[in-house]
Amino acid sequence: MLNTKEVNKQSMSTTVMNQFNKTADLIDLNPNIRKILGITNNEIVVHFPVKMDNGEVEIFTGYRVQHNNALGPYKGGLRYHDTVDMDAAKALAMWMTWKTSLAGLPYGGAKGGIKIDPRKYSDSELERITRRFTYALGENIGPEHDIPAPDVNTNAQTMAWIADTYMSTISTSERSHNQHVVTGKPVGSGGLEGRDRATGFGVYLSIKLLLETKGENLRDKKFIVQGFGNVGYWASHFISKEGGKLIAVQDAHATLFDENGIDPEALAQHCEPRKGSIKGFSDAVEISAEDFFDLDCDIVIPAALGNQITADNAFKIKASIVAEGANGPTDNNGEQILLKNGVTILPDIFCNSGGVIGSYLEWLQNRNGEMWQLEEVMAKIEKKITENFHKIHSEVKQRNIDWRTAAFILAISRIETAYKQRGIFP
Ligand code: GLU
Repeated sequence: MLNTKEVNKQSMSTTVMNQFNKTADLIDLNPNIRKILGITNNEIVVHFPVKMDNGEVEIFTGYRVQHNNALGPYKGGLRYHDTVDMDAAKALAMWMTWKTSLAGLPYGGAKGGIKIDPRKYSDSELERITRRFTYALGENIGPEHDIPAPDVNTNAQTMAWIADTYMSTISTSERSHNQHVVTGKPVGSGGLEGRDRATGFGVYLSIKLLLETKGENLRDKKFIVQGFGNVGYWASHFISKEGGKLIAVQDAHATLFDENGIDPEALAQHCEPRKGSIKGFSDAVEISAEDFFDLDCDIVIPAALGNQITADNAFKIKASIVAEGANGPTDNNGEQILLKNGVTILPDIFCNSGGVIGSYLEWLQNRNGEMWQLEEVMAKIEKKITENFHKIHSEVKQRNIDWRTAAFILAISRIETAYKQRGIFP
């Protein structure tokens, strides 16, 4: 089963720190800059009360960790999940810093969320929880300071509530031009055409580009997807359109299998009224969760939570590509095993960067008072991801290293240069 407990697993901040330290050693990172990048700038924890539908008050705990802003405002998602805690927020914030740097964006990294299972709350409770969380964060977020976005279990609606609450609580003259305090909003409220599919599109494109370097394409490639939220669905949609075959999907409730291919559109329709759960889909058989990573396929796409591919299951993977739609899905031991077995890992900070690239476009669109069409948005995202792919690929070839290490080298070197140019205040 999709591991939602993450008990006895390596902590996510250990994973990201090991990745960081390995890179820092390799590039002989300036020791002072290493000290700075090894810590998070700000760690915000808020406890706030919300009135439930039954009239009782419940207290919630929300987090926002701002890791680094050397390259620009803090940027990163907010997730609503039981696994949200300080350790997870710190790790995910650090990954955001590397992701935005690698993508060439003028942003730093942040992450946060609320420790809740949103399925347990009504829509109006979720609205009040979101609005009160935004209010509690106060000036810790802002369109030129820290810009949240959707993540696990949050969506365009969540962002619309945040934007509205933020704009309603700042001074009157500021209200009309601060909608870029969050990205991933609904299109009717300043959102970007295509932001919904941006992450999944990036996952698909990065796999396609990798296959091209081997003279291959997606036709008849068998792939399996863990998590069928926004990322899992859109990645499956684009890959299936090019002839790839989705043979299995796993979420927290079920593992589905069909050798002849699962139709992502039919599965998405099935999920819609079931709060996203794939369970009960009749056009595939349900198999044991333990058999998921064993399946004979070409591509594995973890698109759910962190710490899913570990020493417990990495050895089972038969695919030659693991494309990380999720953040931190592979821990350090899992990675060692995959690399030893010749698996290419397209690392999260590159593979799922389509989302934050889309966010950047939305932010620009809002700041400039523009409205862009879907085609131009997708073309811009495609261009950026393709350029970034080639940069990482040449690093991989030149140094004869794995893709994650190459991506980390590029990401960290860019920040190192900025610090070296500017020095440290005072
Ligand atoms: N939550 C997404 C991520 O992990 C998007 C972040 C953003 O757009 O700011 O990359």
